[in-house]
Amino acid sequence: MTTKTPLTWTSEIAAEHYGIREWGAGLFDVSECGEVTVMVNGGEAKHAVSLLDIVEGLHQRELTMPVLLRVENHLDAAITQINEAFAAAIEATGYTGVYRGVFPIKVNQQSHIIEEIARFGERYHHGLEAGSKAELLIAMAILRDRKSLIVCNGYKDEEFIDLGLRARQLGMPCVFVVETPEEMSLIIERSRFLGVEPMIGARLKLGTKVDGHWSEDSGDRSLFGLNTQQLIEAVDLLKAADMLHCLSLVHFHLGSQIPNIQNIRTGIREACRYYIDLVEEGAPLGYLDIGGGLAVDYDGSRGGTQQSRNYSLQEYAVDVVEAIQESLDPEGIAHPTIVSESGRATVAYTSVLLFNVLTVNNFEPDQLPEEPPEGAPDEVQNLAALVNSITHKNVQECYNDAIYYLESLRMQFRRGEIKLRMRSIGENYYLAVLQRIAQLIPELDRVPIVLEHLTEQLADIYYGNFSVFQSLPDFWAIGQTFPVMPIHRLNEEPSREAIIADLTCDCDGKIDRFANPSGEKPTLRLHPLKHDQEYYLAVFLVGAYQETLGDLHNLFGDTNVASVHINGDGSFDFVHEMHGDTISDVLSYVEYEPDNLYRRFRETAENAVRDGRISVAERQQMLGAFSESLRGYTYFER
Ligand SMILES: *Cc1c(COP(=O)(O)O)cnc(C)c1O
Repeated sequence: MTTKTPLTWTSEIAAEHYGIREWGAGLFDVSECGEVTVMVNGGEAKHAVSLLDIVEGLHQRELTMPVLLRVENHLDAAITQINEAFAAAIEATGYTGVYRGVFPIKVNQQSHIIEEIARFGERYHHGLEAGSKAELLIAMAILRDRKSLIVCNGYKDEEFIDLGLRARQLGMPCVFVVETPEEMSLIIERSRFLGVEPMIGARLKLGTKVDGHWSEDSGDRSLFGLNTQQLIEAVDLLKAADMLHCLSLVHFHLGSQIPNIQNIRTGIREACRYYIDLVEEGAPLGYLDIGGGLAVDYDGSRGGTQQSRNYSLQEYAVDVVEAIQESLDPEGIAHPTIVSESGRATVAYTSVLLFNVLTVNNFEPDQLPEEPPEGAPDEVQNLAALVNSITHKNVQECYNDAIYYLESLRMQFRRGEIKLRMRSIGENYYLAVLQRIAQLIPELDRVPIVLEHLTEQLADIYYGNFSVFQSLPDFWAIGQTFPVMPIHRLNEEPSREAIIADLTCDCDGKIDRFANPSGEKPTLRLHPLKHDQEYYLAVFLVGAYQETLGDLHNLFGDTNVASVHINGDGSFDFVHEMHGDTISDVLSYVEYEPDNLYRRFRETAENAVRDGRISVAERQQMLGAFSESLRGYTYFER
């Protein structure tokens, strides 16, 4: 449906409307010519590159939409910022330990991302966190710097433990974070057997509960970690084995996307009490691992919602450092190395999902005849009369009448009393009534309850070339919102209220909640399509968790991926490109053999030739089309 702002629209108003300066964290903005720009610090100056220029470059490389775009500079910046934030906090408070970050591989396992993290992180000795054997293999192979930690979480079998002990032998600081007393016994046994001294951490199950989506998983019911009895049992096992000196780390993880800084402080204070008591038990320790949880301000509300955070990165670092100091100083215990496992905040900003809009479905009436046709039933006459009789005073009455006449008309259709064309004329008048009411709603002093959601009910449906299930699984699975907006035409007023549907034929395959600094919205303002120009939308901050959690719903596969690096002079290079899954790829994932499918289709075609239903030339064309499709992209191609 249409919408209007009284002001003359400008790109400045667009920036404000979509909240890009709030959630964009200085990394995304809108240019004067109405395009979304990617911002980077190139030495002294800030550079801005238009996303539309990047899209142009993608086309030249035959990377068609949808494309997951990674901005390498943003990953580099995130690693730099977290390390510099802790360095500054340590400097300012006189803390005597250091900071060592680790990136949890599960948050984005893509090799290109992990390689970049290892490369950009080396100057800060930024390590990796592994939660499985597969992830440990990645960490062991990729980390070169001997000061970068490898933190092993998750349940560990003998093979996992042996791998970690080999890493120790090679001089890598690889820590086993113990989740159960049984695991402790196995670590003791395997290190004796291999003659390698392990580094051991204990994962605490804290009583601290956090706000946000993972609230229920925090506290006593959290799935992971040792409760106090188990912790004592694990310590006693180490003592009995004369290995208490191997206990070097205390670990806790309160959950992801923690919106409230108070929860983080409380968690650290509690963990520090454990730290103190374990030192008194005789463990050397030296590392305090505060897990992940550093949140991303997805909606730019600065703490208004669960999709946000009420603290800056610098405040986070200062609060962590201070809370540790305040807890340990009275006990005279040396400041530990602070380890954090920030995943989401490290990679979210680096990826942007780009897609084009294929078509729009709106709920506008078609051209209406002034008068209903000769012989139209009363319902159609009445609906037609309603269109011109709506005033501010009678909106609710008109709305009720319209629904009544429509229902009655549909009943006649079901009984076979009117024809399809007559029903269509009636429905057209009905839509005209609703549109007219919707136009009046903003001018009403009080909006009747039944009309509160009329705007959403009349919102256009923009069909986007992507799959929610493949590219934004958390939107669907856990109610996460991401910033979405057009990447161009932003100096034109977006005159339509819309929701976005994807390519899957699933009712959940849609975006109908929109992150916004002033509160989540059920619709998004978009521009009407132009027949001679593609319309591009982008979903931002999708670098964390979305890539591997995505699934093959309707067999839409991985999208094309491209990484860009923005240079000091404002130019950019494509540093990495990867074509998405072909149809053949996704068919193999569900155990079809594309060659076999082709053979079977060829048989069908051959039979048709034999029966004289098609010619040999037609057979050749069909087979050509079939095999070309197998090699093609799973998404909509123009
Ligand atoms: C998932 C996970 C993380 C990452 O948390 P973020 O909120 O993404 O920073 C860190 N540590 C552990 C143990 C995890 O399971």
